[in-house]
Amino acid sequence: MAQGILDGDLIKQLADVAKDEALLQGILMRTKEDPNSSELVTYAPFTLFPSPFPKAAFLQGLAVQTHYNTLVDKISQDTDFLQEALASTIEVDEFTARLFKIHQQILKEGGSQSVVLGLNRSDYMLDQKEDKTSSLKQIEINTIAASFGGLSSRTPHVHRCVLKLAGRLEESRLILDNNPAAGLAGAIIKAWELYGSERAAVMFLVEEVMINIFDHRFIENELRKRNVPTIRKQFDDVAKTGSLDQDKRLFVDGTEVAVVYFRTGYMPQNYISEESWEARLMMERSLAAKCPDIHTHLVGTKKVQQVLARPGVLERFFPAQPEVVQQIRATFTGLYTLDMGPEGDRTEQMALAEPERFVLKPQREGGGNNLYGSDIIQVLNAVRGTPERTAYILMDKISPATVQNYLLRRDAVLKVSHCLSELGVFGVYVRQGREMLMNECVGHLLRTKSSEHSDGGVAAGVAVLDNPLLL
Ligand code: ADP
Ligand code: MG
Ligand code: MG
Repeated sequence: MAQGILDGDLIKQLADVAKDEALLQGILMRTKEDPNSSELVTYAPFTLFPSPFPKAAFLQGLAVQTHYNTLVDKISQDTDFLQEALASTIEVDEFTARLFKIHQQILKEGGSQSVVLGLNRSDYMLDQKEDKTSSLKQIEINTIAASFGGLSSRTPHVHRCVLKLAGRLEESRLILDNNPAAGLAGAIIKAWELYGSERAAVMFLVEEVMINIFDHRFIENELRKRNVPTIRKQFDDVAKTGSLDQDKRLFVDGTEVAVVYFRTGYMPQNYISEESWEARLMMERSLAAKCPDIHTHLVGTKKVQQVLARPGVLERFFPAQPEVVQQIRATFTGLYTLDMGPEGDRTEQMALAEPERFVLKPQREGGGNNLYGSDIIQVLNAVRGTPERTAYILMDKISPATVQNYLLRRDAVLKVSHCLSELGVFGVYVRQGREMLMNECVGHLLRTKSSEHSDGGVAAGVAVLDNPLLL
């Protein structure tokens, strides 16, 4: 890249300006030392330069997003499919089983919510083939607590600034505006309006440790601009002060809740006690629109992703739309079952023979849970011949070309790193009863990490925020 020829002094100057611009824009994070107050904040980690990304692949990701929204929403309503897809997983994975139990209970009782709100982010990497061509392949889709829609709304300005200072004015025009915060908020507002009470609030359900609070605040601000009341609560608050009235209206701490926006609840550690699980069940039973509801949450599991990649499965959801099937399937890479039986045995053999070609994934979110290389061998050997194997799925490892960039992060030395990027595309939808009222792609996120790391997102401290420089 061009910046490779820049001298150290200039890089240092650019980095200083970039950090100040990031602070000016509100691209902030709380610090490890003081994670629950805003007395001590720093810039959220980001790249000094935007990373090149092929425009065609970028547009492909945007174009397929509304179909992914439809797919997620259809699966969430297909009880038989979810039951079948997750049957083996819930035998051994306690967390997924617990979520599944709530899903079944809601089905049995008949859900009360008529408004369905989906905010998801489909993530991709560019798989580079031997002939150096590359194609966009999905890493996963996040249906719960997909983050960085807020902060990524402000990063284009910073990168344009850096490029201009580096004398690359023309290239600065190749960075698109991006405002997922507004789009995510737009869908939340739509769901809130359909709920139909001006007094009722949008409740952000949040973790105890809130390092990434500014990402939420951008969305909260959008809601406030439109006079939509918001509250921030933890599972514990809901457990202690939450209740349903006779019409299943949810009240938390005296406030009626129209929309529950989950920014927690995706990992076992988020449910610190039985009361947290009871609080989740209460929210699911309520009239409030949940983002996501329990059914949609389950759609985001890696197991569902693997089952979708089986021949003929996408056709079930788009029987009369082969072109949609084709468009979605084009973004799939190899995904393999580890269920008990000959097919799972073949997957196991394949992974043991060439572990560096694959990623082994349990049903977890939030980064840092997947297994690579020799760890794959170790885990597969440990679960051999037991149903524990079915807690995992196997996936082809996607290998993008690396580019050079500088990762700006507090306390890190300023140096060139070989980096790879992951593109996220934000999608929103709102359905009332059977009618889809909104289905949109609302922006993107580029996260970049040093190629030394196999796994991990921004919150996990590995990847940093970036922007695609569309080529
Ligand atoms: P999580 O829900 O924890 O974010 P992901 O499936 O997104 O789980 O995996 C976490 C990270 O691991 C990704 O951000 C990516 O860096 C890496 N990763 C996951 N799957 C693959 C893959 N198939 N090929 C290459 N890297 C992958
Ligand atoms: Mg995820
Ligand atoms: Mg991920």
